[in-house]
Amino acid sequence: MTDTPPVRPTKARPADAAAPQVRPKTEGWSQKKDADGRPLLQFASPRRGKPPVHLADLTPDERVAKVMELGMPGFRAKQLEKHYLNHYTSDAADMTDLPASGRDELVAGLLPLLLTEVRRLETDRGDTIKFLWRLHDGALVESVLMRYPGRITLCVSSQAGCGMNCPFCATGQAGLTRNMSAAEIIEQVVRANALIRAGGLGDPRGVGHDEERVTNIVFMGMGEPLANYARVMQAVRVMTDKKHGMGMSARGITVSTVGLVPAIKKLADEDIPVTFALSLHAPDDELRDELIPVNSRWKVDEALDAARGYFERTGRRVSIEYALIKDMNDHAWRADLLADKLNARGRGWVHVNPIPLNPTPGSIWTASEKHVQDEFVRRLNDAGIPTTLRDTRGKEIDGACGQLVATTEDEAAAAALA
Ligand code: SF4
Repeated sequence: MTDTPPVRPTKARPADAAAPQVRPKTEGWSQKKDADGRPLLQFASPRRGKPPVHLADLTPDERVAKVMELGMPGFRAKQLEKHYLNHYTSDAADMTDLPASGRDELVAGLLPLLLTEVRRLETDRGDTIKFLWRLHDGALVESVLMRYPGRITLCVSSQAGCGMNCPFCATGQAGLTRNMSAAEIIEQVVRANALIRAGGLGDPRGVGHDEERVTNIVFMGMGEPLANYARVMQAVRVMTDKKHGMGMSARGITVSTVGLVPAIKKLADEDIPVTFALSLHAPDDELRDELIPVNSRWKVDEALDAARGYFERTGRRVSIEYALIKDMNDHAWRADLLADKLNARGRGWVHVNPIPLNPTPGSIWTASEKHVQDEFVRRLNDAGIPTTLRDTRGKEIDGACGQLVATTEDEAAAAALA
């Protein structure tokens, strides 16, 4: 841990200020506005029918109580945990160690069906799989499973829809449908693990299927995870709990946010050292106010202070996600300004991940040119900020809040399958 140095003034906007400046705007949909004409932010989940209570929503003690309520001895809770969280099944027929009498009722009471698969798209020769799920009330969410050398990453959704109203985002268009339950989040991981175990994710590369499972989770699918704080944290506890959960490493779990500052501070105080990512996308309030509407509530400097605070509290290096968008946020002066703002808060606490967009000719949401991307990265690295351009697969789903180019990717994947 190091002390936070005083924040020094950052450079004024330098010579390339004359470069073209494309301003964010929605294309093909109307961004919802409040009475004062500001993009509408929805923090509270609309009241809708809750999903059925599930084992993964409960603490270990609550699971025992529920099992006893269903007429079985408490130790059966542990058996159910193992079947569901370690063997990835909620099929009573697989659970032959439970007594036949009452088994179906127990499973129905604690492991109700939460996700129905609607669609599955495979790309990268089966190494990337996008799932579309229907929840019990008809709401749709996505998750994306990706095999990389040495790891398997699952990008999960934490809300149906999203209330943050970012103008580039397909999810933001419809607003927030509702928060997902902890178990609906966990079920995405369990279903992915079941698929991997069945040999359904690309080439296992010499590793036996039954030894493989999801190693990394990124909360970068639909929704703003920190707007659904309690359920996301319950899900993280289930993922990391070695005795009653999935026993995953907290370091392999990345919680991202567009900058809900009070929740970042709360996250820093949890005793679970997850990786924290701030989806910044602009270092100046003038642009970020339009690009990430929650910036009207918490400004760039406040979000960066909170991110630095996360590092100080946990010792975990923070990631800054930055989608490079042609002539919108990819200017050299913005790379310098970002480097200044990060260096002003100390050294060695942060890593920047610029994510090139897909080329989308004719759209304002299109890729920076290659030399512009390279210059952006070079300037940050030269300023002492470790910066790595994400690969093309990761750009859509492993960063940038997931939804940046979701529609385009859907179309491409659908075309590939046609
Ligand atoms: S980019 Fe993320 S925070 Fe913004 S509207 Fe989309 S899902 Fe929500």
